[in-house]
Amino acid sequence: MLGPPGAGKGTQAERFARDRRVPRVSTGDVLRQAQIEDEATHRRAKLLMDAGHLVDDDLVIGIVRHRLAAPDASAGFVLDGFPRTLLQAEPLDHLLDDRQPLVVVDIEVPEATLVDRLRSRRVCASCGTPATAALMVCGACGGKLVPRRDDDFAVVQERLRVYAEQSQPIVEFYRRRPTFRSVDGDQPQESVAADIAAAVASVVGGR
Ligand SMILES: [Zn+2]
Repeated sequence: MLGPPGAGKGTQAERFARDRRVPRVSTGDVLRQAQIEDEATHRRAKLLMDAGHLVDDDLVIGIVRHRLAAPDASAGFVLDGFPRTLLQAEPLDHLLDDRQPLVVVDIEVPEATLVDRLRSRRVCASCGTPATAALMVCGACGGKLVPRRDDDFAVVQERLRVYAEQSQPIVEFYRRRPTFRSVDGDQPQESVAADIAAAVASVVGGR
């Protein structure tokens, strides 16, 4: 599943994976959970992610290869946040040699909408619980809501710039394939989810 930061990709990937009873494989989660032996590599990966940058391709590919070999991914999986660069997309085809088709769903959202969405994300200053747009105070403890630190405007712009620069070529890489589908992400979550399900079903069947 592809889409820029703020497109709701994580939420949609989670939901789709649940409906299809397959694991959602998020590179971010896997990186955070992975017991990376090499402390220096782990620190470097974390520093890069905190700054809104991307981690080494080889590191990520190795982690994804390991994750996709796990028994719970044998019937399929949803990749969220991978591949992020062409240098990750090309090895992914080889990883999946025996497991085609790779269905590619791109969630498209206009940039102005993304900036609005990313800037409106808030968390509780006291307990860190994420808040929805409608809340005035923290739903968990009544605390004051503040913008998420990594959603400061400069960071938002940097994330979108990095996405455009490194991930847009990936969309072009997949676009001509018969298994590529584009979905309009600028509509209610329910509609996006229905469109994603229909898009995948049009390639591999199912509902
Ligand atoms: Zn709170």
